Amino acid sequence: MAGSRKVNSAAEAAREAKKLIAPIKNEIVSLLTMLVQTNSVAVPPLGNEAAAQKELTKVLKRYKLDVEMYDTAKILKVKDRYVRRDRNYEGRPNVVARVAGSGSGKSVLFSGHIDTVPPGPGVWKKSPWSGHVSGGKLYGRGAWDMKGGLVAQFGVLMALAKAKKRLGGDVIAESVVDEEWGGGGGTLAGRLRGDNADACVIPEGTNMSVVRATRGGHFFDIIARAGDPSAYFSKEEVVSPAVPMGRVLGWVDEWTKKRKKIKRGPTYKDFPDPAPVQVCALEANRIDPDVPLAVPLVAKLRVYFQFLPQENVEAVLREIRRSFDAFCRKDPFFKVYKPEWKDFYFPPLLGHELAADHPWTRCMAEAASAAVGRDVSVSAAEYPCDAFIVHKFYKTPTLLFGPEGAGAHNADEYVKVASVVKTAESLLAAALMWCG
Ligand SMILES: [Zn+2]
Repeated sequence: MAGSRKVNSAAEAAREAKKLIAPIKNEIVSLLTMLVQTNSVAVPPLGNEAAAQKELTKVLKRYKLDVEMYDTAKILKVKDRYVRRDRNYEGRPNVVARVAGSGSGKSVLFSGHIDTVPPGPGVWKKSPWSGHVSGGKLYGRGAWDMKGGLVAQFGVLMALAKAKKRLGGDVIAESVVDEEWGGGGGTLAGRLRGDNADACVIPEGTNMSVVRATRGGHFFDIIARAGDPSAYFSKEEVVSPAVPMGRVLGWVDEWTKKRKKIKRGPTYKDFPDPAPVQVCALEANRIDPDVPLAVPLVAKLRVYFQFLPQENVEAVLREIRRSFDAFCRKDPFFKVYKPEWKDFYFPPLLGHELAADHPWTRCMAEAASAAVGRDVSVSAAEYPCDAFIVHKFYKTPTLLFGPEGAGAHNADEYVKVASVVKTAESLLAAALMWCG
């Protein structure tokens, strides 16, 4: 292996990265096509990631990379409250590859998730697994979230292996399972296995912005039941829980207003709504031509709260819960028919934040700006992800940086192919500067 020669500037790192990525550009695109064409949908408690992980491993082995596919189910044996014990990790392996450094520099971890959400109810112009390219955009479920960024990060290792080049510190890339739906099991498995580094990038589709903060998030359901269904059409009328649920909507609305006014801090100061509260779903009965005149026995509401990085999420959730209990005690229906509160997962997802002037933020922003050829923005994300696991629990400064695209969790998702290559160049330039 060729030893490393220290790069002196971001411009030099970007030039070197471009040179190293050039010979594998086509292979990055064909790996992306193949991964998008391989269904890796996960819906709790299951996930179908194994086929994609096997294909990825095969490609990495061709580069004679130090690569391992390992079982994630063992996290269920670990005492960690962030292990989602209601999920099944059997047959859902993670993949990790490494270009070992000479030992003289700092290490870096690129962490991407291979699981995707299902195609969804939206109508796709072509199959969600087509991977077809049109106008420089590669289409398919997971193209942007986040197989584009995932192949870019492995592209860094493929380029180093092809050039037989090693850096001062280790360059590690992993493909993890179970990130969607508030998972994080794959990310946690990687950390518990010890694939840790001095800095981390998660190449989610950030449209070439260096994202240094993410929000926390929590989903829960309120389930209202009308009481004894056998009373239906007997002497006593069944009281529909639909109208009381309307009052719960009022309670949610109060919280929406309250959360708009929280202390937002500098990172989220320009967001129109720093900590949104959303109603994801409301269900009572459906207007059914076959059963036209039924009263609902159950009404359900799914609520989504988001949290700022500096907030104590579990304390705020306890406050929300107390306020709901107080609301129920005063409500004529809910004080009789106690509603159920059901967390979609627990513990909640936390936010994370790395300082704008942290050396890793500066390194990634300079490297990306030089590679992309313009000043890339440094920003905060409006969504939660698994970054807090690496950043907060494993004390690894963590950023998000990835390609341009659209349609995550929607129909006609795509990633811009040229931006995937630019992401690989940016990540490699950052590694050249960071790892020495
Ligand atoms: Zn994602």
